[in-house]
Amino acid sequence: GPSQSMRRLRALLPQVLDSVDCLLFDCDGVIWRGDEAIPGAPQVINLLKERGKRVFFVTNNSSKTRKMYADKLQALGFNAKEDEVFGTAYCSAMYLKTVCGLQGGKVYLVGSNAMSQELEAVGIQQTGVGPDHIHGKQGDWAAVELDPDVKAVLVGFDDHFSYMKLNRAFQYLTQRDCLFVGTNRDTRLPLEAGKAVPGTGCLLQAVETAAQRQAQTVGKPNHFMFDCVASQFGVDPSRCLMVGDRLDTDIMLGSNCGLKTLLTLTGVNTVADAEVHQKSGSAERQGMVPDYYVESIADLLPALQG
Ligand code: PLP
Ligand code: CA
Repeated sequence: GPSQSMRRLRALLPQVLDSVDCLLFDCDGVIWRGDEAIPGAPQVINLLKERGKRVFFVTNNSSKTRKMYADKLQALGFNAKEDEVFGTAYCSAMYLKTVCGLQGGKVYLVGSNAMSQELEAVGIQQTGVGPDHIHGKQGDWAAVELDPDVKAVLVGFDDHFSYMKLNRAFQYLTQRDCLFVGTNRDTRLPLEAGKAVPGTGCLLQAVETAAQRQAQTVGKPNHFMFDCVASQFGVDPSRCLMVGDRLDTDIMLGSNCGLKTLLTLTGVNTVADAEVHQKSGSAERQGMVPDYYVESIADLLPALQG
């Protein structure tokens, strides 16, 4: 059938590296897990750069600014600069400014301080960051005071998410011309030892359910994340490799943008997961089948040290 092939990247590695100028790395589950680098990952990134490759860091995690990611990368031993980082806090601000044309407008933000900083850096004001304290009684909640300058609701990772925030987002979104944007749809954030916590997708779905509207989402697999890289650095998609641990976000993004794709097995998905998509016969699901896979990106080391 039309199903795509998937190969372990070992003997082919030198050829595949020669065929690309640019590599995009997902972060969590690929170059680090939580606060610890994946063993060998800093060396891989640093050697790729020494060999003249362009390297970018593309993450759906909206809880940090580009600067915060650059600091984290450098502390873990990665040779990385702020402008090489494309996180959804930054990309959502760019999306509101360039795609939605919200320059000068204000956003009701369900999200982090990092998101408010990235919004302000592109000239978009926000309201809503931090806890929203309940006031009045239930009968008054529909009359909660709204800021007339708010033109969009943006939902990202928010550890102060609450009923009052949900209500406020709902009240803004009942205004038909209020834009509705989410950073990403990841529903689970895996931790060590099979543990997990709820991701931003859960918060976004709560707001969507309440408002009976669908948000536009910025993060992977939306091609906007790659468009940001391509428009700032002029990269050729056919000479890019997207490296990720998730099939529905990272590998799908690569497929959506015409990039070569590499699944690494240090994070969420397995080769068996990819085979289920491959054998499904569904054309859409072939976008979740990577071209190649490795156990870890440390498997790239021999080809780079040779
Ligand atoms: N969103 C949040 C809030 C996270 O904490 C994480 C991972 O830590 C992610 C998304 C997934 O990030 P990535 O796209 O780097 O795998
Ligand atoms: Ca990941």
